[in-house]
Amino acid sequence: LSVKRFAFQPWHSAVEFRRYLRKYLHEVHQLGSSPSPNTLDRTRYSQYESIILPVISFLKREGVDFRFNDKVVDIMTYPDSDPTTVSEIKMMSGDDGQEEFLVTVDPVDLVIVTLGSVSSGSVLGSNTRAPEMVLPLQEEDSDWSLWQKLADKSTKFGNPSNFSTRGSASTLETFTITLHDDDTEFINRLVELTHDKPGTEPFMTLNDSNWILTLSVPHQPIFANQPEKVQVIWGYALRPERQGNVVRKPMVSCTGEEIMTELLNHLGFPVQSIQSNSITIPCVMPCATAPFLARERRDRPEVIPRDTTNLGLVGQFVEIPDETTGGMEYSIRGAQTAVFSLMGLDREPTRVRKSHTVEFLDLLT
Ligand SMILES: Cc1cc2nc3c(=O)[nH]c(=O)nc-3n(C[C@H](O)[C@H](O)[C@H](O)COP(=O)(O)OP(=O)(O)OC[C@H]3O[C@@H](n4cnc5c(N)ncnc54)[C@H](O)[C@@H]3O)c2cc1C
Repeated sequence: LSVKRFAFQPWHSAVEFRRYLRKYLHEVHQLGSSPSPNTLDRTRYSQYESIILPVISFLKREGVDFRFNDKVVDIMTYPDSDPTTVSEIKMMSGDDGQEEFLVTVDPVDLVIVTLGSVSSGSVLGSNTRAPEMVLPLQEEDSDWSLWQKLADKSTKFGNPSNFSTRGSASTLETFTITLHDDDTEFINRLVELTHDKPGTEPFMTLNDSNWILTLSVPHQPIFANQPEKVQVIWGYALRPERQGNVVRKPMVSCTGEEIMTELLNHLGFPVQSIQSNSITIPCVMPCATAPFLARERRDRPEVIPRDTTNLGLVGQFVEIPDETTGGMEYSIRGAQTAVFSLMGLDREPTRVRKSHTVEFLDLLT
């Protein structure tokens, strides 16, 4: 039970794995000790409430115009031979998303674009319904088609298809379990089994499960408005395409109830009593680990592509030297790089943290 599996798979990028080792080598030993509060930074409430909402409030006060139902369908650039400057943004909006309009971009305006998305193509199920997956991902999915249109203009904008078309190598299934009615049986039994209080261990992997189930039990409450008698935990599976050990079908075809049955059997907890007070919501994410996929050097574009004048590219699929993709920090560092550079500020993002051991070895080589 002390095993912890992150989201890396044997077929993922060795280059990326090396970056992780260089950054986190000094923290690896903490994974085996308990409690290991420093292994992952945790926020008071969920990241949405503790980070995203305050950032949105700040940006709204600064006059940022948020538009949730508009889609950017193309970014027009010139000259055709080697695009350097963005001149127009083509958008779709309206209730049915069919109204097209153009935003004119002056050469002094700055355009920052998030390429791709780890949540692209995600499908939710329910306690009684399996997620209805459409694989492979629809090519017209706008999370990728915008990047594809840019890439069609020049190879300096990277190669999205390396990350968007390999669902079998990048799919994760996550699930959220809500325990109702003051039912502390699940958490009590888990604490008894692991000797870890909620919120002290980042992950617990059930390594013998065919689906490779991992549980994350945060401190409670994890949501500000969470009723006292409710507890919420989260988990994911690295191999949801496999048959379960108890539930003999692929996890991607399972309802929340079936996933909970499999989990409770692995833990050796009573199924009936806990199941009747819980709701499990599954979510299949075909691009969840796409940032870790093996890549060629030019598959990820630079944050400021060569010779461009008013364009920054950010997100999980751009190249930031030394930094490890797969987390919010990567997107933030990309955004800082874009803003500092495009606005001509004399600032740089903080240096990427490196293990002291690695820095010492670097000195010797
Ligand atoms: C299961 C899972 C767990 C994770 N846990 C953590 C964690 O604990 N800590 C952590 O730091 N990170 C975590 N991550 C990673 C984290 O989710 C990403 O780092 C983060 O979401 C990246 O943010 P982003 O804004 O760059 O991109 P995204 O969150 O992908 O946002 C991009 C947005 O742009 C939209 N978009 C794309 N194209 C268009 C278009 N043409 N027009 C309009 N909108 C468009 C997309 O729909 C999307 O909403 C996790 C990821 C997964 C899959």
